[in-house]
Amino acid sequence: MNLKQRMRERALELGFDDIGFTTTEPLDLYLKEIDSRGDMYDWVMTDKFNLRESASPREKHPWARSLLVLIRNYHNRSFPPQMIGKIGRRYLIDERVEKGVEHRRLVDFFHFLKDEGVRHFFDAATPARMSAARAGLVTYGKNCFAFAGRSMLGASWVLILPLLIDAEVAPDAPSIEVGCPSWCRDVCIAACPTRAIYAQKKMRPQKCIAFQSYYSKGITPMELREPMGTWVYGCDRCQEVCPRNQPWMNQDLPTNGPLMERAGDFSLDTLLTMSEKHYVEKVWPLAFYIAKENVAKWQMNAARALGNLGDRQFVPLLAQYLAENESEKVRGMCAWALGRLGGPAAGKALASRRQTAEGLVKQEIESALENLAS
Ligand code: SF4
Ligand code: SF4
Repeated sequence: MNLKQRMRERALELGFDDIGFTTTEPLDLYLKEIDSRGDMYDWVMTDKFNLRESASPREKHPWARSLLVLIRNYHNRSFPPQMIGKIGRRYLIDERVEKGVEHRRLVDFFHFLKDEGVRHFFDAATPARMSAARAGLVTYGKNCFAFAGRSMLGASWVLILPLLIDAEVAPDAPSIEVGCPSWCRDVCIAACPTRAIYAQKKMRPQKCIAFQSYYSKGITPMELREPMGTWVYGCDRCQEVCPRNQPWMNQDLPTNGPLMERAGDFSLDTLLTMSEKHYVEKVWPLAFYIAKENVAKWQMNAARALGNLGDRQFVPLLAQYLAENESEKVRGMCAWALGRLGGPAAGKALASRRQTAEGLVKQEIESALENLAS
C-alpha cells in the first residue's frame, strides 16, 4: 500500500467521510472570482488575514508539496429543534475551543501523519471549498456551498479541512463544477432572506446573515433586521431548502444529547439577558467568532430576533433592556424590537424613554414610534 492509500485508509478508519488530494498551485478560479469583486472582499484583504495570499498555498508555504483535504459530515446527529432557525448548524459542532471528539479525530490523524514522517500544517485561511473541489471531493451548488460527491448522500453539511503536507502525492481528478440538477428552480436564491445570493454562484458576503451576525460592527442596518429573522449566529436557509440536501435531512438521525442539554443556554431571552460569566463560560466556547469581550453583539442580535419572533410576552423584557442595558446598540435594538412587536405596552415603554434617550437610542425610539403610529 503506498502513502496515499495509507492516508486514505486511516482517514476513513478515523471517521472522516472522504479524503482527496490536490497540488499547492494557486487556486486560480477562486482568485479570479475575488479579483472580479474586490469591493466585496476588501475586509478579508488585511495584513492579518489575506485571502489572495491564502489562495496561493505554494507561495505562502513553500515547503508544502500537496494539499490533503479531509471532509466530515457535521449533520450526523439531529440538532435541538429550539436551536434551528437561530444558530447555524455548522457552529453547533465546532470544537476548536472545547476540543471534543471531532477535534481529537483530527489530532489522531495528525499523529498518524507524524508517524509516517509527513510534515503537515492546517492553515485555517486556505480556501476550503475550492480546495475540496480541486481534490475531487465536492461540487458546487448555486448557493455557493460545497456538496459532497462520493459521500453523505451528496449533502452540503460538510466540514472541510485542507492540510498542507510536504509529501508529493498524485492529485485526484478535480470536480470544480456546479452539480445542481437542471430541474431545480434556484430555490436557494429565492429563499435567501437578505438577498445575499444575488445570482447563480454569486454571494455578497456583507449581506449574508452569517457576516451580519458575527463580523459586522455597529448596529445592524435597518433594511436587514426583518430579513434576518430569528437567526442570531449564522444561517442555514439556503441549505435547508436545497433539494440536494433533502435525502440527508429526511433521515431519522440520532439525537445529539450533549447539545440538547445546552440548548437552553442559547435561548433568545437567555442571550439577551445573559451575564458576561454566562457568555464566557457557556456560549463563547461553542460560538467564538464574536469576541469574548463583545457580549453586547449577542444581546443586540437576540433583541432583533425577539422582535422578529412576534411574541409580545417579551415586551417587558425588551422594555427593561431598553432602559437598563449599558450598550447603546442593545438599547437601540430593543427599541426597534418593541416597535416591531407593537401593541400598547410596547408603545408605552418606548414613549417612557423618549425624553431621556440620546443619540442612536433616541433615533431608534423615534423611528419605532413612527412605525407604531403608521
Ligand atoms: S446563509 Fe442565509 S443569508 Fe447567507 S446566503 Fe444562505 S440563505 Fe442567504
Ligand atoms: S437549491 Fe437548487 S440551485 Fe440552489 S444549490 Fe440547491 S440544487 Fe442548486
